[in-house]
Amino acid sequence: MFAKKALSISPSPTLAIDALAKKMKSEGVDVVGFGAGEPDFDTPEHIRDAGIRAITDGYTKYTPAAGSLELQQAICKKLKTDNGLDYSPAEIVISNGAKHSLTNIFAAILDPGDEVIVPAPYWVSYPEMVKLNDGVPVVLPTRAENRFKATVKELTSALTVKTKAVVLNSPSNPTGQVYSGEELQAVARFAVENNLFVVSDEIYEKLIYGEIRHISIASLGEEIKKMTIVVNGVSKTYAMTGWRIGYTACDAGLAKIMGNIQSHATSNPNSMAQKAALAALEGSQECVQTMREAFAARRDFMVKRIGDLAGLYCIEPEGAFYVLLGVNKTFGRSYRGTVLKNCDDFASALLENSQVAVVPGSGFGAPDFVRLSYAVSMEHISKGLDRIETFVKELR
Ligand SMILES: *Cc1c(COP(=O)(O)O)cnc(C)c1O
Repeated sequence: MFAKKALSISPSPTLAIDALAKKMKSEGVDVVGFGAGEPDFDTPEHIRDAGIRAITDGYTKYTPAAGSLELQQAICKKLKTDNGLDYSPAEIVISNGAKHSLTNIFAAILDPGDEVIVPAPYWVSYPEMVKLNDGVPVVLPTRAENRFKATVKELTSALTVKTKAVVLNSPSNPTGQVYSGEELQAVARFAVENNLFVVSDEIYEKLIYGEIRHISIASLGEEIKKMTIVVNGVSKTYAMTGWRIGYTACDAGLAKIMGNIQSHATSNPNSMAQKAALAALEGSQECVQTMREAFAARRDFMVKRIGDLAGLYCIEPEGAFYVLLGVNKTFGRSYRGTVLKNCDDFASALLENSQVAVVPGSGFGAPDFVRLSYAVSMEHISKGLDRIETFVKELR
């Protein structure tokens, strides 16, 4: 009765565990959730005020479908200052969140059967978005020893005559890893040589800790810039997930096509949210620094605590706000008589017995891991890790 394509779309793997955690919470159980996929901070005040002002000023009508010129200009300025990229407003399409930007891209570049290489571990939505747009996601496993970054050798192994694009997500959700300039050069050469689009999801650009710097692959030369679609937005940087503003920067021809698609699907992104995003980009960036410092302290604390947990491990994330906790050494062991066969069993047993919710990696191509978000308070992290420690001590 329903469309085969629609039926092929998997529900978000975070949902099952999240639903169970919520149910337990509603029953009064003290659950510690590590599932958060968004900053726990409020949107900074000057940004909120800009949104309110937009409403009182009557900025509540349609804007151009691809977003207002003033916001496109502010995005061009940001891309120039932060990333060394030259784009004109006609090359910017502003959408209802970066997620919407990504679906626009796949709708614009994929013919039925076209393949998109998705390095794993991957953000859960990429394969489903590709499928929704008649493409075929080609999941490419990467190695923990290489900090989960795809090498050209690995990329080449996934290449076929149907390959149309490669997804790059640096800093990565869920691994937190950041591609170096050299690694990006290699990917860029591979893409240019094989005439592939690079869908470069840079949404966590500002959430990088330590000395590492974010580089946009599009900044590595004119050839790769032509093949790259930069995806970014204000959700993660400015704690603005609910406002729904994301954008793409790419060749004007492709931008036009995405604008056309959007004009029929959703029209413009929310007008007052565009004003708020403008305030975010043009205002003081101190709030970003403050949030980044809080995330950095939590990351350090979490990584250190995990290092002290017998049998568990992690690879220190360099950015975003997730840690992949390696649980594969517990497979085959048992908790109070129940054998843990895989990461799903680990996550279920941990939730049921210790009231800690983590996301099993099976849903994002990381079956040896569970994902913990550190977009939660330090007290929360501390309490949750105490419980995980007690849980693993009881494994037999
Ligand atoms: C959160 C997230 C997005 C999308 O964010 P929007 O709120 O839709 O702007 C895109 N990519 C990754 C990897 C994310 O984690």
